[in-house]
Amino acid sequence: MSQAEVKPPINWPAFIILFSTPIAALIAIPLYAMYADFSMAAWALMVGYLYANGLGITMGYHRLWSHRAFEAHWLVKIPLMLFGTAAIQNSILMWGSGHRVHHRHVDEIDKDPYSAKRGFWFSHMGWMIRDYPTGYADFSNAQDLLKDPIVMFQHNHYIKLVLLMNFGVPMLFGWLVGDFWGVVLLMGLLRLVLSHHTTFFINSLAHMWGSQPYTDENTARDNFVLAFFTYGEGYHNYHHIFQYDYRNGVKWWQYDPTKWLIAACSWVGLTKNLKRVPDFTIRKAQVQMQFKRAQLQLEKSAMRLPTVDVEALKQRMQQEYDTFMATLNDWGKLKEEWYAEKKQALADKKQELTQKWEEASFTNRFKEMEDRLKEQSRRLEMMMRKSFPSAV
Ligand SMILES: [Zn+2]
Ligand SMILES: [Zn+2]
Repeated sequence: MSQAEVKPPINWPAFIILFSTPIAALIAIPLYAMYADFSMAAWALMVGYLYANGLGITMGYHRLWSHRAFEAHWLVKIPLMLFGTAAIQNSILMWGSGHRVHHRHVDEIDKDPYSAKRGFWFSHMGWMIRDYPTGYADFSNAQDLLKDPIVMFQHNHYIKLVLLMNFGVPMLFGWLVGDFWGVVLLMGLLRLVLSHHTTFFINSLAHMWGSQPYTDENTARDNFVLAFFTYGEGYHNYHHIFQYDYRNGVKWWQYDPTKWLIAACSWVGLTKNLKRVPDFTIRKAQVQMQFKRAQLQLEKSAMRLPTVDVEALKQRMQQEYDTFMATLNDWGKLKEEWYAEKKQALADKKQELTQKWEEASFTNRFKEMEDRLKEQSRRLEMMMRKSFPSAV
């Protein structure tokens, strides 16, 4: 057997938790349902706790601690840490450090801890049940987490907290609502299994199934169905190109309850410094992707379409591209002007009123450029739809 075929040793704690919980749920829950009924309270607690767990991971582990996409008050951080612990996905320190490696080396087979290029099984669960060298975290990329007292408290007391959140809390609620075993089975066991697999889909399915509106440089996809089951994390193509944005579903209508909760907390001062990628930058990525796709399609169709069509299309595409470059150029100039104006205003100690007026005029001009890109994106989409109906 060659060296490459030797599989790393099994990580027994992970193996036992990941295999025993679904098996136990499959056996115990139907059996219990046959002999006793689950109370409504048990179902409601399961759904509520599932959401709390999910948000602990998406808002806490992921967007707050791994990406620092916003800042949060300790009154928010503590519940996020506790609910995240309930999801049994390792400590924030381990999770965050590994996740940063995933973003930095996405898809690289020998570096990305859950590279989708190694297949569905590996990226979904396989990476956790053996001690692969890619899973090794030395925390050199997590100095900020090492200094966070809440993160370190959780890391140092992880097992105790896991037991408290997975046994203690469901048992307490079961006793309180008078359906001890029902709550333990649904809120404790079934909730954990569902919470595990929906999160794991982010590493597996969200790198395989869906669209790539912003970039095709990596395997990450945008997928509404996954977003629905993962509290908004299914907009993974956007997330991989702009990872510091607190939003994953960046459009206002995209289903991203994590972003809504972060924003709602900011209205009452519980979160602050929410990071947003400027609209222009987002549009730019989108239009660039459209050009790339159109180019590919043109090349593919050059053989099938009459030559004159291809030539005309190529010309129109070139015109569109020139317009795009001109918009980028104007945007660059406007930015320079804005910086110069800011500097001048600081030096002159201008009246607040004049400053406000100038700000507003700049905002309008920035908005106008964003609209130009938006229009162009629409034109390109229509052009593609008309020229290559089967490809769109
Ligand atoms: Zn990813
Ligand atoms: Zn991420």
